[in-house]
Amino acid sequence: MELSEFPEDIRKYLIPEPSGRMFYRCIECRDEFDIDQLLYTCPSCGGLLMLYHKGTEEIESREGDLWRRIFDYRKMLNFNPLRGIFCYYEFIAPIIPLEFILYLGEAHTPLVMANQNLESAVGGPFYFKNEGLNPSLSFKDRGMACALSFLNYFAKNKNIKDLLTICASTGDTSASGALYSAYLTDLIRSAVLLPKGKVTMQQLLQPLGSGATVLEMPGVFDDCMKVVVELSENYNVALLNSKNSWRILGQESFAFEIAQDFDYLVADKVVVVPIGNAGNITAIMSGLLKFLKAEIITELPKIIGVQSDHADPVYRYYLEDDTSRQQFEPVTVKASVAQAAMIGNPVSMPRVIDLVREYNQAAGQKRIFIVQVTEQEIMDAMIIANKNGHIACTQGGESMAGFMKAINGGLVSKGEIGILAATAHVLKFSSFQEMYLSNRFPPEFEVKPRKEFKNIPVSVQPEYLKKLPRAGKPIQGEELDLFIKVTAAKIARILHLIKR
Ligand SMILES: *Cc1c(COP(=O)(O)O)cnc(C)c1O
Ligand SMILES: [Zn+2]
Repeated sequence: MELSEFPEDIRKYLIPEPSGRMFYRCIECRDEFDIDQLLYTCPSCGGLLMLYHKGTEEIESREGDLWRRIFDYRKMLNFNPLRGIFCYYEFIAPIIPLEFILYLGEAHTPLVMANQNLESAVGGPFYFKNEGLNPSLSFKDRGMACALSFLNYFAKNKNIKDLLTICASTGDTSASGALYSAYLTDLIRSAVLLPKGKVTMQQLLQPLGSGATVLEMPGVFDDCMKVVVELSENYNVALLNSKNSWRILGQESFAFEIAQDFDYLVADKVVVVPIGNAGNITAIMSGLLKFLKAEIITELPKIIGVQSDHADPVYRYYLEDDTSRQQFEPVTVKASVAQAAMIGNPVSMPRVIDLVREYNQAAGQKRIFIVQVTEQEIMDAMIIANKNGHIACTQGGESMAGFMKAINGGLVSKGEIGILAATAHVLKFSSFQEMYLSNRFPPEFEVKPRKEFKNIPVSVQPEYLKKLPRAGKPIQGEELDLFIKVTAAKIARILHLIKR
């Protein structure tokens, strides 16, 4: 829709100008730092940083109703920079001039309702939010769109001509970072660090295809992360891990969309999300709190974080209810099908601890719960979801298994509706699907496929025929007619077809 066709009073808000000031604040010592330097941890105390925006009086004083109208009308605007996460520009990074914004088609992912069959299997109504439909097939693109838009602006501002981005990854961060870096190919070279043998073939090929330097190293993700931190502290590189607080900002768009998708009525919603490095749950809490403060929503939804019992440090932390006795202990991870969440020492844990407290306080009651699921439950859930028309990956299966656990544990009340993050596309994790369907799981995963879900290709081999068609060697005439008849008859038998 053309700008002139929008209601007159809303037009001036639709295409925003940069405004206000942004700064980093350390979550430990509360020191503040200007964004004219690339910072990942606090220069004073080493704590994690979060980004804040001090807006103009006009922006800070806008009412919830005005914001809701701005976002709803903005969705009808045909203007690339505001199509993705920056539809919520004022709540993400409102100092980046629009011409520096990258839009590769991320965000505004669909909510797909569970059919009756799946709802019955799970025990309550829910939607998957299909983050696997982002450009690199995971939600990581939300954060990268923000981080790379900022880097684009930062580099031009500082007259930097050559930038190296680097990240450690369980697979999806590197796929996303490499893709967004590739879009800025004149400015950016990218390198990714992966734990050898701990990412799927698809995830390995994604950064290779985008032209990144892919470095495979021994160990698990937690080891890669330590090396990347060492590099970012001693060399001139831009870190794209979720230590980078620009990524958290971009991922907040997931929360904003959930609010908008339900016409800003989220009190009866239960957002379910798998936890790995805990960047996503951080962003969801932070985003919802921002919308609450701006009175765009009036109540906070429940949030359920899910961890596998093979990588469950956040779950263990919250097993202790008494906040004065809670103590964080990293865990040694075991093989997990939820490989993208297979993290023993989540980078964002200190952010989580602060935000959970703030969230529950703002809600006036406990609204955040962490549940634990088994590898078996994760795989069964993914397969059942896939068999009911969903693209959920293993981590999406983890969300569903977690929602089931929450229902069975009485954490979800009747009438509440689940919004389950299907964080990546199933095709990224098809190796696990294949292991399940063909019963080939290595023992360390502790997954036994259910017999009724076994599904392998059925070979149709017409016997007794002298000649069969082969690539480059077609058959013809009577031979072909016979081949078609015999093959069709065989297939009809397999499918129990009844002759007309
Ligand atoms: C990164 C990732 C996760 C974990 O998210 P965190 O922000 O690290 O907690 C879950 N699922 C997929 C598919 C991911 O790529
Ligand atoms: Zn500090």
